[in-house]
Amino acid sequence: MLTCKQFLSELNDYLDDTLDPQTRSELTRHVNECPNCWVVCNTTEKTLKVFKGMEAKAVPPDIEHRLMAALEKRIADRGPICGQKKAEA
Ligand SMILES: [Zn+2]
Repeated sequence: MLTCKQFLSELNDYLDDTLDPQTRSELTRHVNECPNCWVVCNTTEKTLKVFKGMEAKAVPPDIEHRLMAALEKRIADRGPICGQKKAEA
C-alpha cells in the first residue's frame, strides 16, 4: 500500500498517464481506498485540465509547486489517513 506522500509525488505522472502499468495500478488502488487522495486527485485533475485547455502544456512549475504545497498542507492539517505520519520536509 502506498502512502499518501508517495501518491502525491506520483500524482502528476499518474494524471499525465506516463507511468508504467504496475505503478499506475498501485496509484489507482490507493486513490480508490483513500478518500483524501481521491479528493486531491480529482481536484488536481480538474485543475490540470483547465491549464491544459489553455495551453496544452504541463502546469507551470511555480503553480504546480504552490498547488502541491497547498495539498500537502491540507493533508497534514487533517492528520494521518493511511497510517502515514505527518509529512516530513
Ligand atoms: Zn492517500
